[in-house]
Amino acid sequence: MIPVSQPFLPPKEEYDQYISQLWDTKWLTNQGIYVQQLESELKKYCQCSSLFYVNNGTSALHLAIKGLGIKNEVITTPFSFVATTTSILWENCTPVFVDIDPTTFCIDAEKIEAAITDRTEAILATHVFGIPCEVERIEEIARKHNLLVIYDAAHAFGVQYKGRSLLTYGDLSTISFHATKLFHTVEGGAIMNNTENSELDQTIQLMRNFGFVGENYAMIGLNGKNSEFHAAMGLCNLKYVDALIEKRKELSEAYRKLLGDKRETPDIMKSTKYNYAYYPILFETEGLLLQVQKNLRDNQIASRRYFYPSLNTLPYVTSAHKCPVSEDISRRILCLPLYSDLTLEEVEWIAAIVKEGKKAVIV
Ligand SMILES: *Cc1c(COP(=O)(O)O)cnc(C)c1O
Repeated sequence: MIPVSQPFLPPKEEYDQYISQLWDTKWLTNQGIYVQQLESELKKYCQCSSLFYVNNGTSALHLAIKGLGIKNEVITTPFSFVATTTSILWENCTPVFVDIDPTTFCIDAEKIEAAITDRTEAILATHVFGIPCEVERIEEIARKHNLLVIYDAAHAFGVQYKGRSLLTYGDLSTISFHATKLFHTVEGGAIMNNTENSELDQTIQLMRNFGFVGENYAMIGLNGKNSEFHAAMGLCNLKYVDALIEKRKELSEAYRKLLGDKRETPDIMKSTKYNYAYYPILFETEGLLLQVQKNLRDNQIASRRYFYPSLNTLPYVTSAHKCPVSEDISRRILCLPLYSDLTLEEVEWIAAIVKEGKKAVIV
């Protein structure tokens, strides 16, 4: 079976070297040396002045919303992983969905202002597949209406926009280091605070650790910490991540050529150094997608409907408006296998099966 993604694992000896020390120190979690070292190396890699390593990308989103004190309406994208929406709902806020741009699949910045009410407090948008949102336009709107901006940058590791890490945009930015992501620590995530507000740093640190330091129970928190074992995996993987991006680039370019990609590259990509996190393709119809997905499955090849359904149509969302672009695209988009150990021969084979579906219009 060819999976849709497969985690990279470092040479076992390298991980063992880190881990064997833990048998001596017996310091397994609670901001140990590897967590501290990973935070410092990630800050360097991502050019972030303030970064907090947490146990997953979902708790990063929760901590971001809670840490900023957001309690009311949050303008958000309907085309993302479900955690982008559930984190808003779980924090008792109201998601207000704004449709996406059909070329970037990210929130359509030009439609944001019409959705702002006197209850709007924030914009939570996803750089979906690692493609940047219109960050400048969104910042302008946020400034004008006094809104906070959080980016779910779960797919954006290693992406540079206008020479700067994409993670440095927005007031806060969150990321996932789950095993299925480009850079992973098995489970894990981080929050980047780009505001230079050190009080917010303090709040995030407290909230990550039950809301207490020493014997001072300052606020309500959760257990958002991550372990030395996870951090050690991150320290090993970070050394390989640039090579992994190169390999993905090669595989993505092969897909593009073989599939006769017709879709134009979104303008925003001209200023972007991309990470090749996913390989999504867009079909003319949902029926065609289902047929190709079945053909792939019959050949022991997995594919994923990232992202389906459009989040404004979730059964527990009651505040949603229609988002025709997102609803349409989410029905017609499919992610093909992409991981560093995938071979060019496998890409050729997958592309051939996809093309049997003939009318595949490729993103
Ligand atoms: C993976 C993902 C998350 C959640 O991250 P976890 O580490 O799995 O909790 C959130 N948002 C997006 C867009 C994701 O792809």
